[in-house]
Amino acid sequence: MKYDVVVVGAGPAGLAAAYKLASAGFKVLVLERGREPGAKELYGGRIYAYWLDRFLPEFRKDAPVDRWVRKERVTLLTENKALTVESAVLEKERSSFVVPLVSFVSWMAKLAQNTGAKIVTEVTVDALVRDEKGRFVGVQSGSDMVQADFIIDAEGVNRLLLERAGIVKKLEPHYVAVGVKEVLKFENKKVLEERLGLDEDEGLAWAIAGYPTEYLPGGGFIYTYKDSLALGVVVYLKNWEKLRTPVYDLVERLRLHPYIASLVKGATLQEYGGHMTPVAGINMAPPRFYYDGLLIAGDAAGFLLHTGVLIRGVDFAIASGVLAAEAIKEAKSPSAEDLSVYEKKLRTSFILPQLEKFRGADKLLGDEALFKDLAVFSTEAAYRYFNIDDEHRTLLEAAREASKKTGISILKIMINMLRAVRSL
Ligand SMILES: Cc1cc2nc3c(=O)[nH]c(=O)nc-3n(C[C@H](O)[C@H](O)[C@H](O)COP(=O)(O)OP(=O)(O)OC[C@H]3O[C@@H](n4cnc5c(N)ncnc54)[C@H](O)[C@@H]3O)c2cc1C
Repeated sequence: MKYDVVVVGAGPAGLAAAYKLASAGFKVLVLERGREPGAKELYGGRIYAYWLDRFLPEFRKDAPVDRWVRKERVTLLTENKALTVESAVLEKERSSFVVPLVSFVSWMAKLAQNTGAKIVTEVTVDALVRDEKGRFVGVQSGSDMVQADFIIDAEGVNRLLLERAGIVKKLEPHYVAVGVKEVLKFENKKVLEERLGLDEDEGLAWAIAGYPTEYLPGGGFIYTYKDSLALGVVVYLKNWEKLRTPVYDLVERLRLHPYIASLVKGATLQEYGGHMTPVAGINMAPPRFYYDGLLIAGDAAGFLLHTGVLIRGVDFAIASGVLAAEAIKEAKSPSAEDLSVYEKKLRTSFILPQLEKFRGADKLLGDEALFKDLAVFSTEAAYRYFNIDDEHRTLLEAAREASKKTGISILKIMINMLRAVRSL
């Protein structure tokens, strides 16, 4: 059977492309290896809305939203100290929201299906198929082959198909991190709100650095759903062997930390899972995003922006899927030359400019000393500043004492702060 477009992967990128193409009258097939769209998804929990208003404005009408984020918290955490900064917006802010990705992806799948896209689940694509001239002309699953004029690879971070097609090399450990997450359900949403200091239906996004990853690069996160919260830890794959605690136990270790334990007391474990996430952004992009008959979108293309505190993959995935669809609509043929319009669109949209701007974030965030020094020094200095004993310290005195106690120089901290201010 032949389709106009075959999309590999029913994640945000693939479904956005399928929806836009099917709406324009293209015959579209989406192949997904999971039981249902979203079944293989695991992310933190927050979707940024700003670019969705441009690329998928339909979401404002009827997409599922658990809570709009109005509080952002960042904590530096050690075994026995914490320093937290909170940013709150007091009016009804609607610029990012928390929702389980599986719910959002299911909504997107319905959108695509309602416009005529066909989604087939529990089918793993084994290979992208080329003709004798090297053009991509279909996909192979077991002994079945589906032909298409255009293929969109939206297979996510693993991008095994691109690797098998010789487009990218095997994923290097410094390109990716592993996220492990629990969803903890509260008996009553009021309890969740009171414990986390939230108004009714107000959402919280919380990044925690230091202790959650044994001071290695990465961090912990908390996002509040309606009556549950996601608690997770992200660790760079390259540091896997340095961990004393197995990665799947890191979430439990964080849940039991006294700073967190009282907040989640009594909540029951509803879900548990792990997933890889790209952390190198544009540094792990394939050499090109378009080939004869093929476009690459979402995580598979390295379209994820990660600054340690913020992670944006879903809005990049959706926008790149929409741009891939627009490129196909405009292309006169599936030739790479005609499809090169995709890259132009990526350059004139927010995607490539924003990824380029944060190109250096990856190197800084991978610096092991940064996390340890910042968490250990800052929590110690804050403690000394706020603790009154024989002395009532100035900020400088507190910092000097912290430096002496931890062996971390103030100059080193200042240099790292400067690096962070410039790159993140
Ligand atoms: C721990 C963690 C926390 C995160 N937190 C956030 C966050 O808070 N906010 C945010 O915006 N982003 C976050 N992200 C990133 C976000 O989840 C991704 O950027 C986003 O899901 C990428 O969408 P995608 O469509 O490109 O890929 P995916 O969502 O990975 O979808 C790819 C789909 O392709 C399917 N597939 C793969 N290979 C095949 C094959 N061979 N055949 C058939 N189907 C296949 C998969 O099953 C999957 O359904 C997080 C990620 C992780 C791991």
